[in-house]
Amino acid sequence: MAIDYEILTAETVPAYIDSNPNLAGIVNTSTLEVAEVGDGNLNLVFVCRDADGNGICLKQSLPYVRLVGEAWPLTPERVIAEARGLAAAAAATPHLIPAYYGVDEEQHVLAMENLMGWEIWRGKLNDGFIHRGVGAMVGEYVANLAFTTSVFALDQMEAKDRMVEAVNPELCRITEDLVFTEPYIEHDNNSFVDEVAPEVAALRSDERLRAEVGMMKYKFMTAAEALIHADLHTGSVMVMTKDDGSGDARVIDPEFAYYGPVGFDLGALFGNYLAARARAEVLGRPAEFKEWLAGIAQETWDAFEAEMRRLWATRPDETWTEAFLESWLAQIQKDAIGFGGCKANRRVIGLAKVSDIETLPPDEHIKAAAIVLRTAAVWIKDRNELATVAASNQVFDDTVTAVARDGVRKPDSEI
Ligand code: ADP
Ligand code: MG
Repeated sequence: MAIDYEILTAETVPAYIDSNPNLAGIVNTSTLEVAEVGDGNLNLVFVCRDADGNGICLKQSLPYVRLVGEAWPLTPERVIAEARGLAAAAAATPHLIPAYYGVDEEQHVLAMENLMGWEIWRGKLNDGFIHRGVGAMVGEYVANLAFTTSVFALDQMEAKDRMVEAVNPELCRITEDLVFTEPYIEHDNNSFVDEVAPEVAALRSDERLRAEVGMMKYKFMTAAEALIHADLHTGSVMVMTKDDGSGDARVIDPEFAYYGPVGFDLGALFGNYLAARARAEVLGRPAEFKEWLAGIAQETWDAFEAEMRRLWATRPDETWTEAFLESWLAQIQKDAIGFGGCKANRRVIGLAKVSDIETLPPDEHIKAAAIVLRTAAVWIKDRNELATVAASNQVFDDTVTAVARDGVRKPDSEI
């Protein structure tokens, strides 16, 4: 593959920073320590720190998917989508993202604050750490990004310009394929252990489920409600513990950002909370952790709703009434439950799985996978009847009970 721009290495990063006037003065490059983090699926990420403790983080997109290699080309222009997502969040909710220092469109490099001492939320959830308040912060992030980029806040012509500018077809196609299509068909990207196969077969033979997944995919492809993050899983949130013992959060990695359904961002969180809850359940985590986790989707929803109500008062156009907001919120909550199910399923069956489930010992892995897949199926099919996060949590509890009682499906069981 011919690459027509210079790919950074840890050795070339200091000179790159020196050559970029926009980055002057953030760090002292003569004492800079640079490390390529390399735990992402798509890009190069360099975290840098100088001898005075100042930091910078550079993220460079490659013309292919890092996880797979050059066999899967992917536009490096995705860095511009990420820059757009960061800029919009910097305007709407700057305290919930790393400080954003700008983008180099030629070399496909983003510069932002190095979140030193922060850790990826998924890892902390996997290890059973509580970060109180983080669920609310991500809900607040979703509401602010959504409201400020939507027709609720923008002039109608500006909203259209922004929507056109933010079209992100290659990244959206990944989601369309990996989330909404591949898990439900035979595909080389899928993989799961034999013991989970009957649970997967049950999903694939469920015509109503397939139709409802189609509805969710259709909404993802057509509902241009607001600029959304579009990859808001627990691996896109970095956390730390504040001095008072509560948690703090920063959302990273909005390279999938496009104008899409607001419920998709909340659903990404709900689907990943589901994986975390299944892990906590099968590992028998302490009650304090499980209770906190059991309330996290509600915490996210409540913060999202409260923030939307607060922002609603600032809308310039009275076309959008108070009663409209009630209907809209009710619809978004249903969408979020459905998208949550879709996001959860792909993380068990398809490409780019989650460590919450993958790192479990074999028996626990099978049980957790069954809990996730069955809960997710009900969320997708019955999202309109469930309607609330509380009801979706009940589905999880009922599924845990059923799996404990009946075990997982066997190859010869009725499906
Ligand atoms: P990708 O798009 O390739 O998935 P991410 O944006 O998720 O890349 O970043 C990959 C990893 O780099 C993250 O999991 C995190 O560990 C680290 N990282 C990303 N952004 C920052 C930052 N601003 N400060 C510190 N570490 C970061
Ligand atoms: Mg990522």
